[in-house]
Amino acid sequence: MKRILITGAAGFLGSHLCDRYIKEGFKVVGMDNLITGDLKNIEHLMKLENFEFHHHDVSKFVHVPGELTHILHFASPASPIDYLKIPIQTLKVSSLGTHNLLGLALVKKARILVASTSEVYGDPLVHPQTEDYWGNVNPVGPRGVYDEAKRFQEAITMAYHTYHGLETRIVRIFNTYGPRMRLNDGRVLPAFIGQALRGEDLTIFGNGSQTRSFCYVDDLVEGIHRLLMSNESQPVNIGNPSEITIADFAEEIIKLTGTKQKVIYKDLPVDDPKQRQPDITRARNILGWEPKVTRQEGLKITYEYFRNLPKEELFKDHKDFAKAKA
Ligand code: UDP
Repeated sequence: MKRILITGAAGFLGSHLCDRYIKEGFKVVGMDNLITGDLKNIEHLMKLENFEFHHHDVSKFVHVPGELTHILHFASPASPIDYLKIPIQTLKVSSLGTHNLLGLALVKKARILVASTSEVYGDPLVHPQTEDYWGNVNPVGPRGVYDEAKRFQEAITMAYHTYHGLETRIVRIFNTYGPRMRLNDGRVLPAFIGQALRGEDLTIFGNGSQTRSFCYVDDLVEGIHRLLMSNESQPVNIGNPSEITIADFAEEIIKLTGTKQKVIYKDLPVDDPKQRQPDITRARNILGWEPKVTRQEGLKITYEYFRNLPKEELFKDHKDFAKAKA
């Protein structure tokens, strides 16, 4: 019997991972404190015999009765706007939360995979980013609460591996997109699509020359599954190496949505990384993994998802919430 605990289960990535492990025939225990997650993302799983949900904050002692064979730690706010709103919880979930889950893994003799991030590279001075690059992070900037917590998470995970012999896996996730992203969490893809759907101008921060590389969620989930099943305890980058400037990305969204709005420019947030592209040589060699879904295909599916959301969702947490009611 395989039984997996997935933290952050009601979030974007967590909910897709719950779907995947239900399909793989696991018993799935989803856990979330619902600060940024949404039960709607896992509503369809609630009635399944192989799925159970625990409403719990993993920064506090984690108790799960019964056997566990695997743990995936995906609980954490993951957008720069969230880090600013809830900086302390962001720090705690990847530090105290990771410690609790490593302890649980030890007791249960479970294999644990923790979700790290390309943010461990900070504003990188090496391009594209390989796993042996140590990064360029400002510990006291607005992103420090996320970046440093994730760096601590990697350190403590490795310590449990070397000291206790725990089976650990570390995935460094680059920008990922797809259905169930929160529309108004400030991330660039839902921001642009939301603006197009509301008939607003698209906001480019800075001059739009900064780059990102966007991975479709199904590709990411496949990479994570292969890493979990592998023997690799060193960190592995999972992301799509297809790099694009934010200005060109805005043009792609304008074309996709057919919006007649224009782009407008706003100040670049503090410590916003100038470039980001994963080097996925390690994932290719060790996991035989590479992304399959092109941006064109992935964006089409994602746009359909956002377009079909109820209208009030478009304005949830949005400054023009009142408009939805008009
Ligand atoms: N960005 C933008 N307009 C927006 C939201 C974000 O130009 O409305 C930019 C942001 O400054 C960054 C990039 O898009 O350079 C990606 O931002 P996101 O918050 O999605 O992720 P991260 O910076 O963590 O990669």
